[in-house]
Amino acid sequence: MSIAKVIRVLLVEDDPGDAHLVKLTLGKTQSGHFNVIWVQSLKEAQCCLDVSTFDVMLLDLSLPDSEGLETVHRAKAMAVNIPIVILSGTDDTDFALTALEAGAIDYMVKGDFGYDGLARVIRYALMRTEMEARNNLLIAALEAAANSIIITDKYANITWVNSAFTRLTGYGIREVAGSNPNEIIKSGLQSEAVYEDMWTELRAGKHWRGELINKRKNGTLYHEELSIAPVKNREGETTHYVGIQEDISVRKELEAQLKKLASTDPLTGLFNRRVFLEQLENEREKVVRLDNYSVVLLMLDLDFFKRINDTYGHATGDEVLKAFAKIARNNSRAIDIPARLGGEEFAILLAGADRNDAFSMAERLREQVAELCINHQAGPVKITVSIGAACVFLNDSNGEDVMHRADAALYEAKAGGRNQTVWFDG
Ligand code: GH3
Ligand code: MG
Ligand code: MG
Repeated sequence: MSIAKVIRVLLVEDDPGDAHLVKLTLGKTQSGHFNVIWVQSLKEAQCCLDVSTFDVMLLDLSLPDSEGLETVHRAKAMAVNIPIVILSGTDDTDFALTALEAGAIDYMVKGDFGYDGLARVIRYALMRTEMEARNNLLIAALEAAANSIIITDKYANITWVNSAFTRLTGYGIREVAGSNPNEIIKSGLQSEAVYEDMWTELRAGKHWRGELINKRKNGTLYHEELSIAPVKNREGETTHYVGIQEDISVRKELEAQLKKLASTDPLTGLFNRRVFLEQLENEREKVVRLDNYSVVLLMLDLDFFKRINDTYGHATGDEVLKAFAKIARNNSRAIDIPARLGGEEFAILLAGADRNDAFSMAERLREQVAELCINHQAGPVKITVSIGAACVFLNDSNGEDVMHRADAALYEAKAGGRNQTVWFDG
């Protein structure tokens, strides 16, 4: 609002003497140009408001058509967006406060305007109205944001949240005001190191950004990307924090799906060759690093599988591969890596397993495969598997060394009549 702008004042005052005094005061003032339109009742005020716009209303409370607090209520209803300054005949603080609560922006005692007092009150009222309008606009923007926004005080206690926060978490402002977000949405699944890092940055007055897993009111979890900025006063002290959360659960789910696709064989759901080779290298390094850590590799190849395809068709061949994979998975522990290396060749990496355990596991698996029976119109489909087993050696230079040994054992198993487990004993 520039000083040069003419401020349009609607003066509602039934006493000509008081009205004259107001006009005189505003006419003389150095702080702004005022154009005062004077009316003597609310009815006349309404007529003026119907045809003109005003910046401010000066309102006497005792009018011919309205009295006291009711005057404020009615004037406010008539001029929703115009600040109302009350001109009171008495200096009654309690009543003044009630009038302010009813919607007036300020209050002055008649005859007590002083030099420039009235003009200043009007200008201040206009500034506040402008600031309130700006505030409302900003709040509307924050409310319209798709991301959830949390404002806390300097102790991280919530003072405000937007509707997106409520939509995301299920918590309304009344439920969370005054609480620390940690008490409400922390899932406990996040390592404490993340929070420590967050607070180190924030205490240093810096901005922090990271990913968190949080919990909704209904107990379900969501992934969020959180960005927190400290808000500082003129002295540079942090007075508030503003946090913006973006729900990235969908993105995380897609990432997990992509990771799964990239790491598994689509037909059997077992790990693919790439993951197997990675894990084989990890396990080989562990054997070198740790005392008494042993790893066993099983190479498995279905016997005469080509015949299955030839006799029953490719689709039945696929069914057999899936049924075999199920048995391989069921016999593996969570830390093992059962994988399809290609075609009807499989491998199982038994992490931290000793030779005896590995052999019994291989034999159990082999027997279950031999018992497997897949129904087909041409008759029951039976299958067997040959298994070559080898330990990772301390002096293996890479994963391929142990694969060669397990392959050699597998070759022996085939040559020895198939449907058997052979250890590499070279
Ligand atoms: P052996 O006992 O010596 O291992 O004989 P085999 O017949 O199992 O071995 P061979 O390598 O001669 O044949 C493997 C067959 O596996 C040939 C190929 O058509 C089939 N095969 C490879 N991948 C798939 C697949 O994804 N689905 C089906 N149904 N068959 C496959
Ligand atoms: Mg009066
Ligand atoms: Mg085969």
